[in-house]
Amino acid sequence: MTTQEKHSDGIFGKHGGRYVPKGLEASLDELNAAYNQYKNDPAFQQEFAYYLKTYAGRETPLFFCKNLTEQCGGAKIYLKREDLNHLGAHKINNTLGQILLAKRMGKKRIIAETGAGQHGVASAAVSALMGMKCVVYMGEEDTKRQRANVARMHMMGAEVVPVMEGQRTLKEAVDAAINDYIKNPDTFYLLGSAVGPHPYPLMVRDFQSVIGCETKEQTMEAEGRLPDACIACVGGGSNAIGMFYPFIEDKTVALIGVEPGGIGHKMGEHAATITYGTQGIIHGYSSYVLQDDKGEPASVYSISAGLDYPGVGPEHAMLKDQGRADYVIINDEEAINAFFTLSRSEGILPALESSHALAHALKIAPKMSKDKFIVVCLSGRGDKDLDQMLQYMK
Ligand SMILES: *Cc1c(COP(=O)(O)O)cnc(C)c1O
Repeated sequence: MTTQEKHSDGIFGKHGGRYVPKGLEASLDELNAAYNQYKNDPAFQQEFAYYLKTYAGRETPLFFCKNLTEQCGGAKIYLKREDLNHLGAHKINNTLGQILLAKRMGKKRIIAETGAGQHGVASAAVSALMGMKCVVYMGEEDTKRQRANVARMHMMGAEVVPVMEGQRTLKEAVDAAINDYIKNPDTFYLLGSAVGPHPYPLMVRDFQSVIGCETKEQTMEAEGRLPDACIACVGGGSNAIGMFYPFIEDKTVALIGVEPGGIGHKMGEHAATITYGTQGIIHGYSSYVLQDDKGEPASVYSISAGLDYPGVGPEHAMLKDQGRADYVIINDEEAINAFFTLSRSEGILPALESSHALAHALKIAPKMSKDKFIVVCLSGRGDKDLDQMLQYMK
């Protein structure tokens, strides 16, 4: 049995599944049936590959950081350049896959949630591409913090709905999108990470697996073998699972997920869900969750908006339990330092999210021998973080 068949019911060990109101079951069943039909349909896969190539700009390069490697004095450091995708991050892989599925299902209205706005922009873009109406739910606090992305969504013809509940951030935006989905079964909910009720974690992982598949071929070409470690940042976990999944059976490859350690270990000072969380239910699935005494999702913090989420994809929770992947934390300061280190050594501005993954590579590379090599998933470009980073310029 392959790994994929083993989890085709959306159960990942103790995690995953579907914990939703009755009204949502039928929509998710319909989605699951369509997904199962098309994932093995050559015409669908061909169309997906076509848009990944001509619209997103794949394949993305695998880049050897010669300067950074010399500076660290240990294992070679490579970057998988997801920042070079259209819109500057890996999000486009998943939104293209889901919009093509929506089209085949005959859906005409797309809804999405967004935190920093990156998934909202990617959803707006693919909706424009396919001529569909797009409504993006975004916490009101986030609409103020991320005005440029709100403008981008508007320019691409999407409607942005500010969510006024609770902390007015990502968690409330997901709640609002789920409520819309319950009320409008004809709508397609384009979910932005490898989280949510079955079949989203499976589906998003499959659409993002192009990252790991390309990396495998590219490392074979560059080094004649598979890497010693793959490192990726974990928010909901989509870029990480996309990188990890094709390597799961390759036991010589260490898989390391990096969570945002923020400014401290206390609840509210970080968003390191696997590191500090406990088993719970959030947004329709079971996984590790950062929750308060009442079982409500805790408030979370990270310098990078894209990692600021109190849940985590159930497949990561399983990989952690199995010991197949390791999850570590990198704090704000280490991420900021990694941002400047890569900018100055290689002329690449990494997203603050990706800077977390990079920071861990900078930590372990010097302790590894020179014949080893590491691949870091550079999930996005740092241009979106410039205003924030200006204050740290010396
Ligand atoms: C959204 C985002 C992330 C976090 O999302 P995952 O689902 O954990 O991948 C990481 N990096 C960038 C650049 C992002 O935009």
